[in-house]
Amino acid sequence: MKKKILVANRGEIALRIIRAIQELGHIAVAIYETPDSAALHIRVANEAVWIGDGPRSDYLNIDTVIKAAKDHDADAIHPGYGFLAENPDFAKACEENGIIFIGPSSEVIHNLGNKVIARQIMKEAGIPMVPGTQNLSAGDAGLQEAMDFAAKYKYPIMLKATTGGGGRGIRLVENDEQLKVEYPVARAEAKAAFNDENVYLEKVVVKPKHVEVQVMADRFGTTVHLGTRDCSIQRRNQKLVEIAPSLIPDQDLLDRICETAVKATKASNYFNAGTVEFLIDHDMNFYFMEINTRVQVEHTVSEMVTGIDIVRTQIKLALGKKLAFAQEDVQMRGHAIEMRINAEDPQNDFMPEGGKTVSVYRSPGGYGVRLDGFVYQGFTIPDAYDSLLVKLTVFGFSWNETVDRLRRCLKNYVITGPKTTIPFYLNLVNDPDFQKGDFDTSYLDTHQHLFDYTVDVSEVNKLARLIAEIHHKKENKYAA
Ligand code: ADP
Ligand code: ADP
Ligand code: MG
Repeated sequence: MKKKILVANRGEIALRIIRAIQELGHIAVAIYETPDSAALHIRVANEAVWIGDGPRSDYLNIDTVIKAAKDHDADAIHPGYGFLAENPDFAKACEENGIIFIGPSSEVIHNLGNKVIARQIMKEAGIPMVPGTQNLSAGDAGLQEAMDFAAKYKYPIMLKATTGGGGRGIRLVENDEQLKVEYPVARAEAKAAFNDENVYLEKVVVKPKHVEVQVMADRFGTTVHLGTRDCSIQRRNQKLVEIAPSLIPDQDLLDRICETAVKATKASNYFNAGTVEFLIDHDMNFYFMEINTRVQVEHTVSEMVTGIDIVRTQIKLALGKKLAFAQEDVQMRGHAIEMRINAEDPQNDFMPEGGKTVSVYRSPGGYGVRLDGFVYQGFTIPDAYDSLLVKLTVFGFSWNETVDRLRRCLKNYVITGPKTTIPFYLNLVNDPDFQKGDFDTSYLDTHQHLFDYTVDVSEVNKLARLIAEIHHKKENKYAA
């Protein structure tokens, strides 16, 4: 039966989801705000609904999105990542309006989106985790609770927004003095960013590796994992580069982490796709961190090494199908690396380069190369949204082959107009520590030389720029 599925998102993930919907023979409905009027996802979808001027406020408006779905007789909504994807009220609104939400239940999203409740569920299930507190009290009482925790577990400690996400609302605190300053600020910021002032503490894992497990669960009690991903290369607790599988040579450890992830998933009555995140210390102890209740940006690397289409599977599971594969059917092969190519200037603190027009766009291709992007030559990047332009994912048989392929792709990638993260990544693939797989979450701080580069504007690029300029002048002349 043909279904109509509304995609409550934009950019590359909207396209990714629309492709899966169309491959399944269903009908894809896109939504867009005014700044996205020239966006590709509108053109590729079967139907498109303008939902307002935004920016962001309409993509984030539950009533608006539900109304668009109802007006267009959508049977289901795929939320993607970001925006409303982890908003339990949105999942609930879908449930109440008879629309299938492609993800877990609103109750599960609520519980797991709250890091304190999630930790409680995991504790009861016997999942290993770092020591932490409940929500801290307001004011001086909370400060005292925090200082007691720090006295017991020793600094550094991590002050985290209870309902935070996207790497925001996390701060490292090294001593009492800093705690006194940071505590009220953290609460105020959590309130402003997440509309929830609650914060709690975790003991810090020093220079950990971030390793996560992709899980998929149907509504019939089957849960499988699709192996590990390493997302240790981060900037301000946000991922930049993701790798599947983890390069930790201890397969037994990785197997235990995956089994723990399945256990954690089952403990939370989960269905659909999810990610269980862990931190690993230098003694190879692993600790539960959180579960993300949605498709992740980096799902592509797991798809490349398992051959399983995660988004297709998400849709089928939400429409009531059983998982088509058992754990033993999931075979990992080779390596995959994803790099988030952002319109940002790494040399200027990753300042976003939105608002600029892509004057030349020439992408790499060939064996083992996958691009999940949404920009094209002549496209003006709206400055209202995040700066991800395209995810470059490469696959290879061995790690070395994968790195070589990635280097080749980065060298061949030409994007002019906005500055991008490409030259920074080119330094990264040439770094011996990266090549050895020797990195943890402190990698960027300890590898500042990656920021040393000059952008090579080759003759071809210069020429292309010139042509674009002439073209631009011509257009302006006729317009005048
Ligand atoms: P978010 O919901 O924003 O993704 P997470 O809890 O997943 O927040 O943490 C994001 C990142 O912050 C982790 O990948 C890690 O780099 C760092 N981090 C979080 N908690 C700790 C901790 N207790 N010790 C060390 N690093 C941490
Ligand atoms: P389809 O929609 O083609 O019927 P399924 O629902 O069977 O696919 O599976 C969804 C995804 O899981 C697809 O990407 C498919 O390639 C993958 N898959 C299905 N069966 C297996 C299996 N036995 N082993 C590994 N992967 C599988
Ligand atoms: Mg996280």
